[in-house]
Amino acid sequence: MTSDQAEPRPYGQTFEDLAAFLQRPVPDGYPVDQVRECVCRSCAGRSFEVQVMDEESAARRTCLTCKAREFIADSAEYWDDDAPAEYFCGCPCGHEEFAAAVGFSLREDGDVRWLFVGLRCLDCGLMGVYEDWKISYGPSAFLLDQV
Ligand SMILES: [Zn+2]
Ligand SMILES: [Zn+2]
Repeated sequence: MTSDQAEPRPYGQTFEDLAAFLQRPVPDGYPVDQVRECVCRSCAGRSFEVQVMDEESAARRTCLTCKAREFIADSAEYWDDDAPAEYFCGCPCGHEEFAAAVGFSLREDGDVRWLFVGLRCLDCGLMGVYEDWKISYGPSAFLLDQV
């Protein structure tokens, strides 16, 4: 043990790394109970560009392999293509291509309480939570299968 352990920047190589990052304890944060990897529903690709919106919490990913665009969780409900501000997530290193996963915080009855969109840069490996939002309705456990 060294005495100067500042929190390391979270770099990772695999889905397991990203899952562990999403499940790290966060002070005053909701615990993440389950993590699901984003896999293209069309071609099973695992690399994406990810768009989020300025005013609504929603995320849409575009598969880099087949270009299919798919919404994460219930984002289709909130997405507005005419909104003035939707933008691509970008890693601080400048790249916009990611592996993606969604962390779910669950209520005692199994419904989703909160979800977190975690991205791992495919260039430098830096991981981050790029979007998160509250789910305030139920039943909502089906969202675990819509990543
Ligand atoms: Zn695809
Ligand atoms: Zn990067």
